[in-house]
Amino acid sequence: MVFCTFVKIESMILRRFCLLICILLLMLNSCIVSRQYADIVLYNGKVYTVDKKFSFHESLAVKNGKVIETGSTKAITRKYKTNKSIDLQGKTVYPGFYDGHCHFYHYGLNLQKADLFGVASYTEMLQRLKEHQKKFPNGWLTGMGWDQNLWADKNFPDNKLLNEAFPDIPVVLSRVDGHAVLLNSEAMRLTGINENTLMNKEEAVWNDGKLSGVFLENTADKAKNAVPRPSVESITQLLVKAQENCFAVGLTSVADAGLEKREITIIDSLQKQGVLKMKVYAMLNPSEENFETYVKVGTYQTDRLHIASVKLYADGALGSMGALLKNPYSDADDKTGILANPVKKLETFCRLAYQNGFQVNTHCIGDSAVNLMLGIYGKLLKGQNDLRWRIEHAQIVSPSDFAVFEKFSVIPSVQATHATSDMFWAGQRLGEERLKNAYAYKKLLNQNGWIINGTDFPIENISPLLTFYAAVSRKNTNGKPESGFQIENALTREEALRSITIWAAKGAFEEKEKGSLESGKAADFVVLDGDIMTLPESSLPHVKIIMTFSNGEEVYPLK
Ligand SMILES: [Zn+2]
Repeated sequence: MVFCTFVKIESMILRRFCLLICILLLMLNSCIVSRQYADIVLYNGKVYTVDKKFSFHESLAVKNGKVIETGSTKAITRKYKTNKSIDLQGKTVYPGFYDGHCHFYHYGLNLQKADLFGVASYTEMLQRLKEHQKKFPNGWLTGMGWDQNLWADKNFPDNKLLNEAFPDIPVVLSRVDGHAVLLNSEAMRLTGINENTLMNKEEAVWNDGKLSGVFLENTADKAKNAVPRPSVESITQLLVKAQENCFAVGLTSVADAGLEKREITIIDSLQKQGVLKMKVYAMLNPSEENFETYVKVGTYQTDRLHIASVKLYADGALGSMGALLKNPYSDADDKTGILANPVKKLETFCRLAYQNGFQVNTHCIGDSAVNLMLGIYGKLLKGQNDLRWRIEHAQIVSPSDFAVFEKFSVIPSVQATHATSDMFWAGQRLGEERLKNAYAYKKLLNQNGWIINGTDFPIENISPLLTFYAAVSRKNTNGKPESGFQIENALTREEALRSITIWAAKGAFEEKEKGSLESGKAADFVVLDGDIMTLPESSLPHVKIIMTFSNGEEVYPLK
C-alpha cells in the first residue's frame, strides 16, 4: 500500500515535470518562431523620439526604410532579429535634422564660388579672389560672403580696387546676405547695368553721384542671373557635394526657399536616379512658369520631393539696409529700406496661391514688411486656420503685430544663428527700442505654440547644431555675450530640438511622415556622440555626428 502510494506520487511528479518541460520547449519555440526580422536594430543608447510626450528609449528597430519600433534594449532585441545590429554604447539618437529655411541648390552652386565669408578687409577679399582664380581660371569670377560690417571701414565698398586687380574679366561678388552684389566695371558692362538702365535708383549705392559698383535686390539678382550657368554635369557634382556636406552635419531634409522650374526638374530627376538622397521641400519662386507648371496644377509629392508652397519677398536684408522699416534706420535717417515687390503683386501672388491650395512663405525682415504681409495674409485667411502660411525670418516685429501671428495662425520661420551673427551691429541700425522686439523667437513661438528653425544657408553655416546652440544660448561660438543676447528670447532645449525636427516638418505638412522617430515614419535619424539635451551649453557646438541615416540607409559616413 505504502509502496503503491509512493509509485503513484512519483509518477505524478514525473508527469508534471514532463509537462513543464514541454511547456518551456513550446514557449521557447514560439519565441524563436515569432522573432521578427528588422533591417537594422540600434540598441544600448538613448533614442529621443521627439514624439508628443518627448519620450526616449534605449533601442530602435528599422525596416523597409521606416521606424518599426522603439523600446528597451531587452524588448527590442528579444522581438527582432537582424543582420545589422548597432551597439550604440550609450550614444544618442535623434530624428534627422530638418533645415526649415535654406538655399540648398544655390549652396551647391556656390561651392564653386570664391568663399568670402569672414574676410576681414578688402585686401583679404582680393587675396582670396586671386587664389580662387588660380583654381578656376576661366570665365566669370564669382564670390560669396563679403560683409563690410566686419571691416574697419563699415561703409559699402566700391569697385576701384577690384577693377585694378581684375580689369579684363567680369567679377560678381555677393554680399553675405545675398541681397547685395559688388560688380567690377567689366561685369557692369557685360550685364548692362549702368546709370541709364537702373530701374530703381535706390537699388544702387552711390558715391558722390557715381555708381560704386554695389547693387541691391532686383538689380543684384539681375547681375547674378547674368552669370553663365554651369552645365547639368557640374550642377550634379555640386549638388552631390552639397548633400554630402549636409549629411555630415546630420541634415536629412531641407526646405529650399525659392526655386525655379529648371532647378526643381534637376533635383527631381537626380532624386529619381538615386543620385540625390536629400529630401527637399521646394518652395516655388513666383515666376509665371512656376504658377503655370505647379501652382495651377496642384501640389506634388514623391518620396523625397515635396512642392506645396510659394516663396515671396516683401523686403531685403538688415545688413544692406534693405529691410523695410516703419520708421527710418537709426543710423541713416533718410532710409526706411526697400519694398521688394509692389503690394498689388504680392496680393495677387497670395490670392493665386490661396485659390490653388498652396502655402505662402514670405521673406520679411523689417517690421513694416512683417506688418504688410500679415495684413495681406489676414484678408485671405480671415481667422485661425491650418494652412500654415509662414513669415520667413520675422526678424523685426512691431509689438502690436505679435498677436496677429496667432490671430491668423501664421507661422514664424526663423534662423537662430541670425540673432548671434547680427547682435553686435543690429542695434546701430534699429536703436534700443526696436531691438527689443527683434530676433524675438520665444515671443514668436508663444503665438501659435510652435516655430520653424533653420539657417538660411549659405548665409549661415549649414550645421543644425549651431542653430540649436544659438537658439538655447543666444551666444556666438566664442561664448559671447556671457549672459546671452536678449536671453528672454532663448528657447528651451526641447523647443529648439522640435524646431529643427518635428516643427520644421510640420511647417512643410510632413509631420505624419517624418520629424519624429515613431512607428511608420521615415527612418531618418542621426547618431551623436553626446547628448545635446543634457551636455553643458559650451559643448553643444562641438558635438560630433557619428552616423546619419535617410530612409534607413546609412548616408554618413559613406563607406
Ligand atoms: Zn533665404
